[in-house]
Amino acid sequence: DNRYFKDTWEGLPTDGYTAWMERMIDDPRIHVTLKADFFDASQPFNRKALAAAGVPVVYTGPVDRYFDYSLGELKWRTVDFREVRYDEGDHFGCPVMNFSDADVPYTRAIEFKNFNPERRDSQNPDKTVVWEEYSRFAERGDEPYYPINTEADRALYARYEELAKAEPLTVFGGRLGTYKYYDMHQVIDTALTAYEEQVEPLLKK
Ligand SMILES: Cc1cc2nc3c(=O)[nH]c(=O)nc-3n(C[C@H](O)[C@H](O)[C@H](O)COP(=O)(O)OP(=O)(O)OC[C@H]3O[C@@H](n4cnc5c(N)ncnc54)[C@H](O)[C@@H]3O)c2cc1C
Repeated sequence: DNRYFKDTWEGLPTDGYTAWMERMIDDPRIHVTLKADFFDASQPFNRKALAAAGVPVVYTGPVDRYFDYSLGELKWRTVDFREVRYDEGDHFGCPVMNFSDADVPYTRAIEFKNFNPERRDSQNPDKTVVWEEYSRFAERGDEPYYPINTEADRALYARYEELAKAEPLTVFGGRLGTYKYYDMHQVIDTALTAYEEQVEPLLKK
């Protein structure tokens, strides 16, 4: 058994995560602004403006970035993706193939159509798309994906966590805000718990 994880059940939302998210935010009380950096003072929902307005904030960006890397940088691995298109119906015969051989430069390949065998009728029977994942150390500006999580990283995060606790109106959430790797079911669980235990009390104040 060479899987990355050993959960009893594996699944995806019936129509995918995008449709799931679109339905969740389909409410006139929810407004979404894209391409707005929390630290960019030229857009209205920036850090200083929200603090001045006394509005509770759920911050899901990197916790060290929030504190301007004042204690040092937390270490991450990132992934470069390379898309390969094959003129064949099914390249791997499965949605995820892991590679641990030293002579293969990527660690994993994703063949998207195989996540949805129930959609075979609407898929092109002669073509398939694969994304190869090349893992490397993340530098500033890269998308941080996996916490490296050495003892030194954990000690550094513990110090950032103390700073985070002292921020009265900011809830630090998600993988970047708490320097943890989460699978989807875990990140959904922590979001619901954070809402009940941290966000709702702030809204009632
Ligand atoms: C390569 C990869 C493969 C994965 N595969 C699986 C899998 O097979 N199964 C599974 O269950 N999970 C998988 N996961 C994990 C899952 O994708 C994550 O746990 C989940 O997406 C984390 O959600 P999040 O809300 O914590 O973070 P994110 O989804 O990263 O959301 C953080 C949000 O904060 C925003 N943000 C950050 N900084 C700022 C800023 N300064 N201003 C404004 N907005 C900002 C970002 O734009 C982003 O929208 C995978 C993760 C990776 C990286």
